[in-house]
Amino acid sequence: MSCRSHSLCLILCTLGPLGTGLAAAHDRIACSDLALAQIPDTTVTLAQLNPATEDPMAPEHCEVIGSIGERTGFDGKPYAIGFHLRMPVAWNGRFFFQGGGGVDGFLGNALGSTGPGQTDNAVSRGYAVVSTDAGHQFEFGVPGIGGVLFGVDPQARVDFGYHALDVTTRVAKRIVELHYGERARYSYFVGCSNGGRQGMVASQRFPRHFDGIVAGNPGFNLPKAAIAEAWDSQAFGRAATQVDVGGEPYLPTSFSFADLALVANAVLARCDALDGLGDGIIDNGPACRFDPSVLECPAAKEPTCLVPEQVAALQDVFDGARNSRGRPLYSDWPYDAGIGTPGWRVWKIGFPAAPGQPLVNNGINLTLGAGALPYVFMTPPDLVSPDGLVSYMFGFDFDRDAPRIFETSGPYTESSQEFMTAASTDLRGFTRLGNKLIVYHGVSDPVFSVNDTVRWYRRLLRRTDGRADRFARLFLIPGMNHCGGGPATDQFDALTSIVDWVERGRAPDVIVATANPASPWPDRTRPLCAFPEQARYRGEGDVDDAANFVCSTPSDARPRHHGRGHRRHD
Ligand code: CA
Repeated sequence: MSCRSHSLCLILCTLGPLGTGLAAAHDRIACSDLALAQIPDTTVTLAQLNPATEDPMAPEHCEVIGSIGERTGFDGKPYAIGFHLRMPVAWNGRFFFQGGGGVDGFLGNALGSTGPGQTDNAVSRGYAVVSTDAGHQFEFGVPGIGGVLFGVDPQARVDFGYHALDVTTRVAKRIVELHYGERARYSYFVGCSNGGRQGMVASQRFPRHFDGIVAGNPGFNLPKAAIAEAWDSQAFGRAATQVDVGGEPYLPTSFSFADLALVANAVLARCDALDGLGDGIIDNGPACRFDPSVLECPAAKEPTCLVPEQVAALQDVFDGARNSRGRPLYSDWPYDAGIGTPGWRVWKIGFPAAPGQPLVNNGINLTLGAGALPYVFMTPPDLVSPDGLVSYMFGFDFDRDAPRIFETSGPYTESSQEFMTAASTDLRGFTRLGNKLIVYHGVSDPVFSVNDTVRWYRRLLRRTDGRADRFARLFLIPGMNHCGGGPATDQFDALTSIVDWVERGRAPDVIVATANPASPWPDRTRPLCAFPEQARYRGEGDVDDAANFVCSTPSDARPRHHGRGHRRHD
């Protein structure tokens, strides 16, 4: 069916239920007319054609901002699922969902990251890109808890967890179809952190939405990771030498910059060469066994050693959060080269105040984490005052409070484990459609443990008799912190890798990455290898050139696809 008149088209094209089209092809609805389109439960507040810009880089495109499902919440406040959609005039026929971050609550710029450290974006490559605020807005007027007050509203919790992802995808795909006159041929999701969690949620809950998904440093067990933030804070607190303005341990004093560099260098000394090459990258992480007690001072503190309280703090943190019966509450963590970097301490302990400034804890575990744990992950929520957040984390009880991530209460009919996590290995709906998933994770991630992701992937391999790599591959990035940073080859084009897999059947055995510009070797390139393979030096040639490395399994496992690694990047 083809629409003969513009007004007829507006009516016909907008009658169908969400996600379904009336016809294979119809007239396009001009950008500014999208504001008039009747899309169920959706209000378009902006629809304008933007000229090409250089900063931020964007081609000529139709920009649409709107909201879905406007309602009044449990707390009497207005809620809606906001979305931001950019549709380039020179469309490549593809749809792209840009994952969110933190606790969401803001409309992303909807340019679409193509991978860590990439300078271009998906819109400039011709993708129609959407982002969402996940169903709530950051309340900037409320210090300390403005980002997490939505946790009081049961529906806003569910929207944040998974519902906004579903609804935004349906509405955005509908608008794409109305504007271009045809459906997107392929749909992709790319996100990191909470966005990586959303990607895994999509693969498990909404397997039809995306042909390809890139999930970076995924917080797929976010409520458990938030409990670990309290655990880590308490552990580091026992090594702090000063108290903060509220009388709680001031975590930046637990380890100086030099102390953490000392630890990272000791880890490198023990584990760097286990992969056959002393190059500042620990490629054979699983073989790395490090005990921080080797650094314990024989007497008084010296720059070359740690006091017993520091050693104990590291042991407690890296062994992982536990209850009083010793049962793990989240995951352990690997010792790696990236724990001496700002990108590691900014989460775990924060930065020391400038001279003369008040001692306010600023580690992200005690700012973002201290709000999300009581307001969003505890059920019912703990309505902590902004001044009480840090004390809440230091007083968190791992026997009494930790089980509340599994609980429901009154209007809170889904536990945070239910609405947040994406730890299932049942990807049958996803694989049945031939869809593909790339997961990547920095080994020195201080907020979501790479060990948790590796355990998930091993479960997936077991469930599929080892065939999971036909549809899901995991890439570990030694030295990389949360979604980037650290002494690591952390810059790579993840979007091209997933598109090649989905559309050309080229499975990513290798993703070639470039080093972080701030690393000791900014010109280095390396293959990122599909787990369980690891990068191995071929024994000759420039160690900063990916072409001189292959991907292979560690020597204690059966060699597999030996030598295939270098073919992809010669
Ligand atoms: Ca090495």
